[in-house]
Amino acid sequence: MLTENSIQILKARYLLKREDGKILETPRELFQRVAQHVTIIETKNQSQWADTFFNAMANLEFLPNSPTLMNAGLENGQLSACFVLPVEDGLSSIFETLKNAALIHQSGGGTGYNFSKLRPKGDQVSASGGVSSGPIAFLKLYDSATEHVKQGGRRRGANMGILNVDHPDIREFIYAKSKEGSLENFNISVGITDDFMQAVKDNADWNLVNPRTKKVQKTIRAVQLWDAIVKSAWHTGDPGIIFLDTINRDNPTPGQGRIESTNPCGEVPLLDYESCNLGSLNLMKVLKKEDGKPIVDWAKLESLISVAIRFLDNVISTNHYVLPQIKKRSTNNRKIGLGVMGWAELLISLGIPYDSDDAVRLGEQLMEFIKVKSYEASRALAKERGTFASWEQSIHYPHAPIRNATCNSIAPTGTISVIAGTSYSIEPLYALAFKRVGILENKTQMELNSIFVSEMKLLGLWNEKTKAKVLETGSVQHIKYIPVDVKRLFKTSMEIPWKYHLLHQKAFQKHTDNAVSKTINLPKTVSLKDVSKIYKMAWEYGLKGITIYRDGSKERQVLQKCSFE
Ligand code: UDP
Repeated sequence: MLTENSIQILKARYLLKREDGKILETPRELFQRVAQHVTIIETKNQSQWADTFFNAMANLEFLPNSPTLMNAGLENGQLSACFVLPVEDGLSSIFETLKNAALIHQSGGGTGYNFSKLRPKGDQVSASGGVSSGPIAFLKLYDSATEHVKQGGRRRGANMGILNVDHPDIREFIYAKSKEGSLENFNISVGITDDFMQAVKDNADWNLVNPRTKKVQKTIRAVQLWDAIVKSAWHTGDPGIIFLDTINRDNPTPGQGRIESTNPCGEVPLLDYESCNLGSLNLMKVLKKEDGKPIVDWAKLESLISVAIRFLDNVISTNHYVLPQIKKRSTNNRKIGLGVMGWAELLISLGIPYDSDDAVRLGEQLMEFIKVKSYEASRALAKERGTFASWEQSIHYPHAPIRNATCNSIAPTGTISVIAGTSYSIEPLYALAFKRVGILENKTQMELNSIFVSEMKLLGLWNEKTKAKVLETGSVQHIKYIPVDVKRLFKTSMEIPWKYHLLHQKAFQKHTDNAVSKTINLPKTVSLKDVSKIYKMAWEYGLKGITIYRDGSKERQVLQKCSFE
């Protein structure tokens, strides 16, 4: 059941090891360890629940985020992937958060921060009589600290750095990653407000405000900043943008403050000191045949959703929190994020091209179903276990009692989809053949998409010639003898018009209470005008954030199209 790739990743990073490197468990025992750990809080039918959770994981129908797989059952096992920490305008807060981030990274989690409260570069510092270094200097400091905390060698801490669009240092921030190799442990995003988007539309002035004095430091044209963001993103993929007002319209606990940041990949907006546990359903496991035709097995999906929501709620109760503040907030709000992986492969199995309106419609229908059933499951848990502590102060009040402040997120599933042997998250296939670099140290691996190979075999087109041609480019679009409908179905990420990338993100975001992590992959030839259009449409579509990647704009990619060079 597990692919060769999956076994290798499990061995390298997930299976328990002795100090000398000897592997101490099998993949089956890993899933047992996790299932047993998260059932310790079950008061009834404990062993049945352990079996149910084990089966969902061992059948690769549902997988929790990596820290849960790695750390469940260990002493002080930290199980969450996502955190947000505060950065206040003072050295004590900056270094306190740096220390806390190191502890989180060491435990396998990733952290997001908004640096906008820091006074700008060159501003006065009363304690020393000198001038301040500004947010970008501290961003660099956090980046290099991350470099040295390698999460027990299993994965490096990921960070999200945000600076709001009215901060005086915003221009420096926009270009902070433009030099190859800078801020490698950070995703950066500009925190954008509706006012700013309006000012861009109206070609109006925009004030940059010193957060310490609250005084306007400079006034520029909003469009100037917008063009800088677009230009930099076109060149390097950074910065992404996050829409703070859109995020806060969905903030489930506004009484606890405004949300200023997301986790590293953007799928979970969180308050300071909040954490979130993610898990993803493998959509390739919710297919069945009717009259010989593959269709979505809605009944199976429904039952997996309720198992997954219970599992994730159990993670909150059986988690070891690295800080008391995180424990308090996380157990008060009980945020979880159930999402999906294998969306592209599900569409292929159903014979629906990714770049079609049918695909977008099904995406919306599927995510609506997942949201409705997740909420039903969380409400059933509230009856059994009580609501989250701050329910009466949340937007869920006075609706039916619910156990979790949020239920859904679409995570990138960067590793768990490899373990499950399916396509990432809601992304189209990146390539039909590629070498995977860097997942295992010092190893590159050649891979062909197995669904594609099966389809070729079925059509009688799988031979050395096809294989060589696909290995060369990772695509079938240039191969003359491949039928048109097969070419359409197997379009890869860069071959999908960006309009459809956005429409899929929109369809899933519509029914996701947290957010959707998605990269809008673009061909090398895309214009600046198009990037600007994409970012504007993202706001109009109600997306909570957006990231683009233009082919070839970064030297290092984890996934590269296959080449023999
Ligand atoms: N993450 C991290 N380090 C990594 C990859 C991910 O800290 O190397 C965190 C980050 O917060 C990200 C979240 O885990 O947003 C989920 O990422 P993903 O779905 O790719 O994780 P997986 O569970 O597949 O490993």
